[in-house]
Amino acid sequence: MTVRVGVTGAAGRMGRMLIDTLVNSALDLSLTAALERPGSALIGVDTGALSGVDASGVVIVDALASVIDSIDVLIDFTSPTASLENAELCAAHGVAMVIGTTGFTPDQEQELLARSAKIAMCKASNFSMGVNLSFKLLEQAAAVLGDDVDIEIIEAHHRDKIDAPSGTALSMGQVIADTLDRDLQTVAVYGREGQTGPRKRETIGFTTIRAGDIVGDHTVVFAADGERLEITHKASSRVAFARGAVRAAQWTAQQNPGCYDMQDVLGFREAAESVR
Ligand code: NAD
Repeated sequence: MTVRVGVTGAAGRMGRMLIDTLVNSALDLSLTAALERPGSALIGVDTGALSGVDASGVVIVDALASVIDSIDVLIDFTSPTASLENAELCAAHGVAMVIGTTGFTPDQEQELLARSAKIAMCKASNFSMGVNLSFKLLEQAAAVLGDDVDIEIIEAHHRDKIDAPSGTALSMGQVIADTLDRDLQTVAVYGREGQTGPRKRETIGFTTIRAGDIVGDHTVVFAADGERLEITHKASSRVAFARGAVRAAQWTAQQNPGCYDMQDVLGFREAAESVR
């Protein structure tokens, strides 16, 4: 059965790309609702106008409640506050969610997790296939190189990104910390300045660059004496995230309530468990 999809944050950088990817997808999905924040000049406008194509028949609205019964899954790349409000309504109506928003506080993460008791929720800091594969490579590298290396994570994004370090950089740090049995909260070092003293081996450093229109670059450095390994992912278009999120929408609409991520959608978690 065709999965009915709503996209919120429709006029944003990701929202536009999501709508474009969705309407051109070969998957059995259909765009049935599009949302923007109240007060947006685009309320009432046909989504076709966002990319300059023919009218789609789906008009942008500002109240999720008014379209909630027309969707099976909501794709949400907005802001933490908006995503939390949407999760409350989706949970009350049994509508699944794909959440790409980043920058949640730990308390907000807990609140979201609680909502997933009632609905299937796929939340990922990065929906690209390449980044999700890199999580597996990082796990392997950390397991092999262990405590013999210094680990640093460098990320670069466009000038308008409002949270730092990126959700993806934090996810990379989490994967490495979990593999090495370290507590990320304790070992993370966010930028350095002044008399920092020598580097402690167990720390995981984060460096942030904000410049121009960079879509998203991440490099993890594993540096030992005499050699270093660098694992790099570079996104050159937001289509990489949109393609993954659309695939996640189809998958999530068919799942039982619970919290999932892109590793589940791509079958990476199952594959790892069958190897163990
Ligand atoms: P953006 O600012 O271009 O777009 C956000 C859109 O959400 C805006 O159009 C805004 O008006 C809209 N919005 C805000 N509040 C709303 C509400 N209450 N209801 C409906 N719409 C609302 O930002 P962006 O670059 O598209 O990124 C959005 C989020 O997605 C950020 O948190 C970003 O870090 C994250 N992101 C995640 C991934 C991933 O793969 N997980 C990839 C790219 C961006």
